[in-house]
Amino acid sequence: MKILDGKIASQAIKDELRIDVAQLSAEGKKIPHLAAVLVGNNGASETYVAAKVKACEEVGFISTLIRFEESISEAKLLTKINELNNDPDVDGILVQLPLPKHISDEEVINTIDPDKDVDGFHPVNIGRLMQGLSTYIPATPYGIMLLLEHYKIETAGKHAVVIGRSNIVGRPMSVLLSSNTNPGNCTVTICHSKTKNLNDYCLQADIIIAALGKPEFVKADMVKEGTVIVDVGITRVPDNTRKSGFKLKGDVAFEEVAPKCSWITPVPGGVGPMTIAALMKNTYNSCITKN
Ligand code: NAD
Repeated sequence: MKILDGKIASQAIKDELRIDVAQLSAEGKKIPHLAAVLVGNNGASETYVAAKVKACEEVGFISTLIRFEESISEAKLLTKINELNNDPDVDGILVQLPLPKHISDEEVINTIDPDKDVDGFHPVNIGRLMQGLSTYIPATPYGIMLLLEHYKIETAGKHAVVIGRSNIVGRPMSVLLSSNTNPGNCTVTICHSKTKNLNDYCLQADIIIAALGKPEFVKADMVKEGTVIVDVGITRVPDNTRKSGFKLKGDVAFEEVAPKCSWITPVPGGVGPMTIAALMKNTYNSCITKN
């Protein structure tokens, strides 16, 4: 069993980006600028946004963090997004999800200029993805593709089972893995909460992408020998022995599953850092269209 190490692969991507940004700077061109919007004080969201801002610093991007109280109205938030849409210096806009219940995720996503939608959630970008056109690929599935590419995982002709059908992970992941690309060219089965006999599908899989948000759901008896497993899940599970009061758990029971795998991602240190690296790549790509 080998580890698909997201820390190593994301570092390689960030190192390349740092060189590219230094080059832009040396040529007097525009430097990528990511604007991150955080609403409220959700602990996990705070951590994710802080990691994204830190990654911007590492690669030499400009970043702006815009914070709002939990009570901000949807109208006010949309006004801010429109301001960012119209600011020529901003290349990428990221609104950290989830948002408070009184604000519609859909309305917010639809308001972001598709050309600055570096999370790749806007329907225009999802539509372009479906048609195999150049687009901003949603950061988590894009990060997973970059991870498979980094470790030269053979995917063509393999059977990939994606567990979860969310718009931000499962569904775009299934499209990417089935695309005529490398990585890609998989035969894909997408499973979800209403799938019957999930174990049977998983046992047929050469590649499993677990993105359901249920800690340690995928057990050893669901996995055949030699499977490649990408564990997208991140759930905070209470743990009184830790200062933070929690530990992070993936969707895969790592200890029992890993020995059966050819490759597996750890949690943390797998998909999480790759999501951030993919976001950086999308932001860079947005910037260079303006240079
Ligand atoms: P979601 O809740 O939107 O979707 C979960 C999906 O899992 C649904 O489509 C549902 O049908 C399916 N599902 C639920 N129970 C199931 C079951 N018993 N059997 C089969 N399918 C089942 O979640 P999401 O936003 O796609 O995120 C999934 C997980 O990935 C979460 O833990 C989330 O925190 C994590 N995540 C991690 C990153 C990262 O950067 N590492 C990014 C995004 C999401």
